[in-house]
Amino acid sequence: MENFYEKVWSGCLTVIKDNISPNSFNTWFAPIKPVRLKNNVLTLQVPSQFFYEWLEEHYIDLLKKTIKKELGADGRLEYSIVMDNNYHTSQGQPFTVHAPTLNKKALKNPPISLPIDLNRDKAGGRSIPNPFVIPGLKKLNIHPQLIDSYNFDNFIQGDCNRLARSAGLAVGQNPGKTSFNPLLIYSGNGLGKTHLAHAIGIEVKSHYPEKTVLYVTAEQFTNQFIDSIRNSNQNDFVHFYQMIDVLIVDDIHCLAGKPKTQDVFFHIFNQLHQSGKQIIITSDMPPVEMSGIEPRLLSRFKWGLSADLQLPDFETRIAILQKKIRNDGVEMPAEVLELISSKINTNVREMEGALISILAQSSMNKKDITLELAAHVIEKFVKHTPREVTIDIIKQTVCKYFDIPMEKLQSKSRKRETVQARQLAMYFSKLYTKSSLAAIGSKCGNKDHATVLHACKTIKNLVDTDKRFKKYVDDLDNMIKIH
Ligand code: ADP
Ligand code: MG
Repeated sequence: MENFYEKVWSGCLTVIKDNISPNSFNTWFAPIKPVRLKNNVLTLQVPSQFFYEWLEEHYIDLLKKTIKKELGADGRLEYSIVMDNNYHTSQGQPFTVHAPTLNKKALKNPPISLPIDLNRDKAGGRSIPNPFVIPGLKKLNIHPQLIDSYNFDNFIQGDCNRLARSAGLAVGQNPGKTSFNPLLIYSGNGLGKTHLAHAIGIEVKSHYPEKTVLYVTAEQFTNQFIDSIRNSNQNDFVHFYQMIDVLIVDDIHCLAGKPKTQDVFFHIFNQLHQSGKQIIITSDMPPVEMSGIEPRLLSRFKWGLSADLQLPDFETRIAILQKKIRNDGVEMPAEVLELISSKINTNVREMEGALISILAQSSMNKKDITLELAAHVIEKFVKHTPREVTIDIIKQTVCKYFDIPMEKLQSKSRKRETVQARQLAMYFSKLYTKSSLAAIGSKCGNKDHATVLHACKTIKNLVDTDKRFKKYVDDLDNMIKIH
């Protein structure tokens, strides 16, 4: 049986529901729990401080009106804020804030705002744009993290991907409305999962610009979750994700062995699924073969559709390469494309890598793209037996690529280009040599190990956030591999 205060609150909710969008209602009012009514003061339990502030800032008039309607002119409202699933006081009593006593200024400076672009680190590079911005407040600004070129147009269809591609397209055109929820795409490495996942997000945005789409890797998700624990704002983390209309989580297998993150993902998954939101996940395994993932989560993954991407056949591989060079506005003899797709047949990413390397080799050495040059590059790609990479080779490659003299890289110069070239040299040295951080530092401008560590982090962040920079890293990677 409903308590009196529950009755009062559901009366309020009826009015509120009529006055705001269903989305806002679900986000901001559905999670509220009425806890008591005493002396005509209705106490509402809200999930976080931020939540309370948001209500006060945006819905106070509506709340006042409805309270008045239900409780009369002297009816009042009080909030109780739950923190970290525990109450705020040690006695287990709800910590009650009387709304008027809270400092209004705090509302203007919300505690967890992480403006994406201002988040520059010391080296001048951007760090990962944390999509974990304030719920609602930045709703329109939630950066979907989609890569434009990973669209359906550029995703060549073949027998290898027919089901996954058409299911993805259907989901993109009708998110949450098909039976493919979740849509799970799985395949081996480099066969197009990430591309297809982005394409779905882009498709949604093109049909429904108002929908909030978010692409995250399972790794980013995990890191945000860990940060939220550290900053005691897990509730905000969950609320942020609950506001997403189309959630794309790439490489979900990375959650293996992380039960806490799986728990929170399970919770978010259920909430989204229940409210008809679309979930897209990718994995390197079909659900039946995933290990280290909780059974209850696996069973959710099986609710929708699991579709795999297989290795494209020869013609499809050629078509992929053709599309790629056309997009890049370059030309390449047909026999070279054929050579690439016949020699490299396990991984589309490697095939593209070979293509880029051939282009790079030809433009750097001012040589035409011939079968011979292509064969030479491909051989190194396929055999995976590059000569040993040394720090010197890496430094030379970086200098050649950016056209800067070696002395600059070795110098103390703090010029942005030089710093970045130096950081790249450090990053690749760490990646490809067995040298210690200290040894790498001393060979790259006489820096200490901490600087090298910082460089590696900075490069990783930039690769995730800056497309142009990612291209540098991919080019360099290929050049170093085939030096
Ligand atoms: P995965 O996430 O499965 O490791 P990616 O999505 O990163 O693979 O794909 C690797 C590369 O191959 C990307 O550059 C992608 O654009 C390209 N690629 C894969 N499949 C296709 C396809 N069917 N059409 C066009 N490009 C593709
Ligand atoms: Mg991927």
